[in-house]
Amino acid sequence: MSRIVIVGGGAAGLEIASMLGRSVNSQDEVILVEGETHHYWKPRFHEIAAGTFDSDLDTICYFSHGANNGYMHYQAWMTDVNRAAKQLVVRKPNGETDTLAYDYLIIAIGAISNDFATQGAKEHCLFLDTPEQARDSWHQISSLLRSGLSRTINIVGAGATGLELAAELAKVSEELSRNPYAAKLNINLIEAADRVLPNGPVKMSEQALLRLEKYQVNVMLNTRIASVEADRMTTSDGQVLNADVQFWAAGIKAPDWLKEIGGLQSNSLNQLVVEQTLATTFDSSIFALGDCAAIPQADGSQVPPKAQAANRAAVHLAKNLVAHLKGKPLKPFVYNDGGMVVAIGHNFAISTMMNDRLILKGRLVRRLYDTIFRLHQKTVSGYLAMSRLIIFKRLKCLFKPV
Ligand SMILES: Cc1cc2nc3c(=O)[nH]c(=O)nc-3n(C[C@H](O)[C@H](O)[C@H](O)COP(=O)(O)OP(=O)(O)OC[C@H]3O[C@@H](n4cnc5c(N)ncnc54)[C@H](O)[C@@H]3O)c2cc1C
Repeated sequence: MSRIVIVGGGAAGLEIASMLGRSVNSQDEVILVEGETHHYWKPRFHEIAAGTFDSDLDTICYFSHGANNGYMHYQAWMTDVNRAAKQLVVRKPNGETDTLAYDYLIIAIGAISNDFATQGAKEHCLFLDTPEQARDSWHQISSLLRSGLSRTINIVGAGATGLELAAELAKVSEELSRNPYAAKLNINLIEAADRVLPNGPVKMSEQALLRLEKYQVNVMLNTRIASVEADRMTTSDGQVLNADVQFWAAGIKAPDWLKEIGGLQSNSLNQLVVEQTLATTFDSSIFALGDCAAIPQADGSQVPPKAQAANRAAVHLAKNLVAHLKGKPLKPFVYNDGGMVVAIGHNFAISTMMNDRLILKGRLVRRLYDTIFRLHQKTVSGYLAMSRLIIFKRLKCLFKPV
């Protein structure tokens, strides 16, 4: 009998827990350690922040999902690991510390925003790292929208997170413009690089910029933030950007407590360094994947921190571990990027295909963006449940009062 403990029920961890829970022998035990009670798809956190997220149909309760999919949800936060004793150390919601024995440990705790130690960023910016932060952001945005007049929001970082947030907020402001009491949101999207989506192909950046300009988002390229105060940001060349609400969405890193945890190898972003099999370099019974892992590829590059990469690594590791429990060797994870899809407002998206040679955009592409989330739902809940959810969602959109 083996006990597999998975830490983090996000894009990667929930897929592994569901797949393993449904496929391992009844003597084997699958436990998901996750501090939250409900699973949210992180690429939609900007929708929670903008008040457009459907929390009825797009969340999963770990406890009941685990019962139906063969794993146990243990609500707690990982704080440490004792590799010699093969024990995970956790903090329960009541603050008590507990330990949990494991035969295999899979760490998939994701990443947090990297403020690059910018003065005042931590104190004065909102972040979209957890559902709670996303909900807190909505509370602030909601009262801003109700405050009338003209209001300003600064968003640092024009990668997928910052760009999707800027576009979603701009759309919400546009839709509320018929209400004379609603505030008009002026959005500054600030990026240090010379284009939005700096990690995507240039053509995609150009198309995204055009769309943002159409939504009247003020995109400031080649602009680095030097410091943040309660109601303003100052750029490295001294320009002051006043704002009512400020977001930081530039860069990611794994949390500081993960650095060299249990003596494991980590990189400068605190990510655990793993082999191509996803096993950590110093301990073959501990695996890491998703945004908290530095995963090498055969050509020397690293697997990017994307939802799609987390999902593919999860499916690979789940299948690999099931085979490994039957005595088979672990196979390397080979990541083939399926392109990039970025939502720009809730009715429009841009995507790259065919190794970035083709750029698609429009309403239909927005459906493609949703497909990544639907595929995730299919992996964690099955084809039937996913189909039911799509139908319910369509009906809900059709019949809900406007
Ligand atoms: C607003 C936004 C928009 C994005 N848009 C896109 C996009 O368009 N395309 C794209 O590919 N990617 C996008 N991303 C990035 C994408 O969300 C991540 O790459 C992906 O979620 C990583 O998956 P993961 O499983 O590694 O981590 P996560 O999905 O973040 O899951 C980590 C889980 O671990 C849990 N956890 C954390 N710490 C602990 C602990 N100590 N103990 C127990 N549990 C813990 C968390 O509660 C969470 O459930 C976006 C991210 C944001 C924030």
